[in-house]
Amino acid sequence: MAIPEKQRLYGQVLVDFANAASTDEAGLKYFENIQKAFDLPYSFIDKAKNNFPTLKDFYSPLTKQEIKYLEQISEIKTLENEIASTLCVDSLKYDAYSKTFHIDVYQEIELGDGTLAKDPSIERISRDVSIEELEEMIRRRVVEPIFQDHIEDTLSTSLPKLMRLKNRITEEKEISDEKYQELYLLQDTFADIREEHNYIEFTQENLKSFIKDILKTPAPINIEVIQDKLKSFIKDVLTPPVPINTELFSKASLEEAYFTDRSDLSFLFLFRVYNYPIAYCSKEFFNVKNNIEHLKKCELCKKFYIANKQIKEQRRCSICSKKTRATPEKNREYQRNFRQRLKDDEKKRTEKRESRIKEHRVAEFNSKTAKGY
Ligand SMILES: [Zn+2]
Repeated sequence: MAIPEKQRLYGQVLVDFANAASTDEAGLKYFENIQKAFDLPYSFIDKAKNNFPTLKDFYSPLTKQEIKYLEQISEIKTLENEIASTLCVDSLKYDAYSKTFHIDVYQEIELGDGTLAKDPSIERISRDVSIEELEEMIRRRVVEPIFQDHIEDTLSTSLPKLMRLKNRITEEKEISDEKYQELYLLQDTFADIREEHNYIEFTQENLKSFIKDILKTPAPINIEVIQDKLKSFIKDVLTPPVPINTELFSKASLEEAYFTDRSDLSFLFLFRVYNYPIAYCSKEFFNVKNNIEHLKKCELCKKFYIANKQIKEQRRCSICSKKTRATPEKNREYQRNFRQRLKDDEKKRTEKRESRIKEHRVAEFNSKTAKGY
């Protein structure tokens, strides 16, 4: 039994996403397949692909050195944020030239019930402190004993590491201060792009192990076993780290803007664009026993594929089975056989022709003899 086209398209979304060799490929192919599976206008593909930030496009205008610095700036920012959170301040930046730390705090106001809250009118307090002052501030932090290790770590590891990294970047002078500022700003975009790609990679791994698990299910397929696995996979995919209302999602809402609106790049965006449609396609594809019978893993390229026909012996995807037919030896053998066949045919035709001529001559001779020549 063939797979209904709609279900095959849902399956293709999953299989191609899991198979992709890079997160760039996974994302680009994903939007192509989503257009088909959810009947979106054809123009959606270009729009979604242009919107999707590939790592290749991001890296291509940068030199190797710039990429290295970008990674280091990313690490510096992480360390600065970590120290800021230990100190309970809003932001902290280390200046390698003056060897001081710039701290920003939004002034706290006392609410009626005695608790402290950030002033909504935001009065900022900015201070520059030396390393000694900063260490003292960190030590003075009154914390529960459970966080004491964290304080020690900040003092002994994060702080020296931050200074070492930043001093090195500025002292190496391989990049100008302007370049550093440019890269520092670019790092925000880089952080968003990297987060999306990490997210894709994580989802890919999840999906891959789910499909592998399904393929390991012994034959004959017991749909209830599959459905149990499906349920727990969907639960994993649809359980966000922060509570969100998943009832907001429905197939009816899977319109163009659902995938292309990047105005809010929060976690919700990634969840909406990748998790929900993947959960939806999984439900549609894996709930049907016949679909699973068509799902295979190619013995050559190790990629998952959906076979058109249900042939038990089929072990290779369509691309690999074509490839094997086209090996040089096979090609030569085929051509040898082909030429031999041509020769044989020609030989047969010649023999036939000769025997017809012979027959004709015999007949002619006989008739002449009969006529008494
Ligand atoms: Zn293959």
